[in-house]
Amino acid sequence: MDVCVIGGGWAGIAAAVEACAAGRSVSLIEAAPQLGGRARTIEVDMGFGLVRLDNGQHLMMGAYRETLALMNRVAPDSRQRLCREPLVLRGPGGFTLQAARLPAPFHLAVAFARARGLGLAGRAACIRLMLSLWRHHWQVPEGETVAQLLARTGQPSWLIERLWEPLCVSALNTPTDIACARTFAAVLRDTLGAARAASDFILPADTLGDCLPEPATAWLTGRGARILLRTPARSIRHIGSEWHIALPGGVHRARAVVLALPAANSSRLMGSALESDNGPGIHALCHALSLFRSIPIATTYLAWPETDLSPLPRLTMLGKRRAQAGAAPLGDWLFDRGVQRGHRIASVVVSNAAAPEGSLAALTAAVSASTAQALRLPSPAYAFTVFERRATFACVPERPHITQPISGNLPGLWIAGDYTERDYPATIESAVRSGLRAGALAAGLMARGGAAAPGNT
Ligand SMILES: Cc1cc2nc3c(=O)[nH]c(=O)nc-3n(C[C@H](O)[C@H](O)[C@H](O)COP(=O)(O)OP(=O)(O)OC[C@H]3O[C@@H](n4cnc5c(N)ncnc54)[C@H](O)[C@@H]3O)c2cc1C
Repeated sequence: MDVCVIGGGWAGIAAAVEACAAGRSVSLIEAAPQLGGRARTIEVDMGFGLVRLDNGQHLMMGAYRETLALMNRVAPDSRQRLCREPLVLRGPGGFTLQAARLPAPFHLAVAFARARGLGLAGRAACIRLMLSLWRHHWQVPEGETVAQLLARTGQPSWLIERLWEPLCVSALNTPTDIACARTFAAVLRDTLGAARAASDFILPADTLGDCLPEPATAWLTGRGARILLRTPARSIRHIGSEWHIALPGGVHRARAVVLALPAANSSRLMGSALESDNGPGIHALCHALSLFRSIPIATTYLAWPETDLSPLPRLTMLGKRRAQAGAAPLGDWLFDRGVQRGHRIASVVVSNAAAPEGSLAALTAAVSASTAQALRLPSPAYAFTVFERRATFACVPERPHITQPISGNLPGLWIAGDYTERDYPATIESAVRSGLRAGALAAGLMARGGAAAPGNT
């Protein structure tokens, strides 16, 4: 093959599509039985027959330009696979923030001016924070945390609890006291601070698998790409002008390799390619990749007989932190997932979730009871939790910054993954952007017929 992409998450899919579109022969190697990685469809029996859900509730934004374009490339009917609506945040205490149908920045100014449940002081504080970031071109002092940014711009503690903490935890999956203010500012810039459509909420109409992994599988195989599932790559070695990838069934050869794996896995696999003459650059990169810490997310699915519950708002903020002091939800957000097999299903996201001791039953019961109580819903008839231990990297200011193209002496080796986009938290948009870039670089290497691309030596 010309290009072998190792890892079939959204970064790997993007890399494979890009390299394939450039006319290269491509193989995509995935350890799991399906593509999608951390954003995949699962089939589970919650107690009333098999239903299709996601391994974790995902929310996309209008700002996910590259992801939306990629979906459209592999499935021209991608709009029908998505639900898109203007930003509306509804939370505890009657809090509502709704983007106005006006061009930027008036959509936001009017949204804050009209926000309910924040009072005059809260609205003024929000505008103060956004204006301060805008005046400084969305830059913050190096190493600043979100908590420091909020203190510096005079955000009252109740507003932090009600708005900024939930927004930060859901966008960065990292609590404000350690979260990276630079990344938070970039998220605000590209969503609330950009054109109105950038702040739209986008959800899969059905599941994540329908949005990219499944149509991309058909697109790739239709163009001759080889997709190997249940095939963990064990090691990689550069021999002559080729890469030899050790797979359970034997050695697979390719001229270029894209490692589209979580940072720790890339570090291990790249380590297998190291030789004494690879130079300090690659050793340093392997070490940097091993330094990313992970933070879990739990998604609890709740189900009621359809006749017991009318449709819920598509998305509701639950306000976990406020609740901890009194009786309130353990989750951060609730999403209505529609009806399957005669049951209405809702997903409750618990970001930055503590690892459960023993079984997930206690967490499931607590999320189920607290959500029903907070939203005055009947007790769910069925509940089920997916706990993703390594959902995202900890988005802290001191995390390593990885730049592409990678330095060192491993010609034709590229890395992709959500952690390689300097300004972004772990999102499917950062995964897709990194994959597109790595796929284009790997394909470009072939076009020049050379062994190493500029900047990769
Ligand atoms: C519960 C949850 C909720 C989330 N919510 C959101 C959200 O609301 N919005 C958002 O934008 N993002 C969200 N994210 C983050 C988003 O899912 C990730 O940032 C993105 O999917 C990462 O994609 P990736 O391709 O970089 O990595 P991955 O998806 O981790 O892909 C890596 C792939 O490599 C495979 N692999 C590993 N080792 C090997 C090997 N040796 N050989 C072959 N294959 C291997 C893995 O099986 C995996 O499929 C969420 C994540 C989780 C888990």
